Amino acid sequence: MPAPPTYHGFKRLQGDESNPTLGIVVDNTSRAVHVCEAADVDTDWDVTADTNPTFYVHSATNPATEYGTLRHDATNLILDAVGGGIVVKLGGTEHWRVTTAGVLSSLAAEAANAATGTGGLIATGGIAFTDVANAWIDDATHGSGTTTHYIGNQAITTSSDQRLKVDIEDSQARATEIFRSLRVVDFNWSENYGAHEAYNQRGRWTGLLAQEMVGVVPYIINAPDKNCVACLAGLDCQEHVDEEGKPINWFVQYDHLVPMVVKGIQEMDARILDLEKGQAHFQNGWLKDQVRDAMNDSKFKDWLKAELV
Ligand SMILES: [Zn+2]
Repeated sequence: MPAPPTYHGFKRLQGDESNPTLGIVVDNTSRAVHVCEAADVDTDWDVTADTNPTFYVHSATNPATEYGTLRHDATNLILDAVGGGIVVKLGGTEHWRVTTAGVLSSLAAEAANAATGTGGLIATGGIAFTDVANAWIDDATHGSGTTTHYIGNQAITTSSDQRLKVDIEDSQARATEIFRSLRVVDFNWSENYGAHEAYNQRGRWTGLLAQEMVGVVPYIINAPDKNCVACLAGLDCQEHVDEEGKPINWFVQYDHLVPMVVKGIQEMDARILDLEKGQAHFQNGWLKDQVRDAMNDSKFKDWLKAELV
């Protein structure tokens, strides 16, 4: 027969040399404290002895199957929910929930929608990789610039929809003239760019410079202030820096240039069609007909003779 456990219960402990404190001292066998209502005192909790002191809190409804534990396993502090998820409230309002499916969600309703996706994350307030407004991923804009985000080393891009646009009309842009004025450059990425090593391993790049494009197609440039003299000149700017003092760079959103490329192709296509029409005209004997008609015209013949003398 094992020795009957010794219940120490509430004890006076030493917080430090000058501060006594109240303690709950568990026995050396089960090492557990169970909190339950009076009606459940005879319940067999059917849990194995814990290796470390463990605090159990049981629900009143199904105390043997719905409860939570708190312990430290000598490596981590562990909060374990049995028979349900974990909800974090602030002032009585729910803010975070870990569902039984393992989804971390900022609100219960959204968590319920996550039918699949164990280990998923639903953050209705957005996600930020650094504590900078420009670095948020959200369904609303933040800040005045952009911090590029990556999946692997591929930058995230966006698209839009007719329902998001008003005052729609056929483009008046003279695309081929615009492209004629743009300077395409070859370059390597500088160390100021976070992904420069991986990008430069791909070889030399071809692209455009945001500062040179801003006067031509301003809407594809993402910049905190397109009129800043220092930023516009590509110099160190004291005004447009992030919270770490690093420059807020300008970005060319090339995807927004695609419609202009389409317009340019349409303009070139129209010119080619005109040229082809003219060429067909000649090939169909138009010029020959014109000369024959002219040679039958006595006035023209007289004029030609006079010219050739
Ligand atoms: Zn600036």
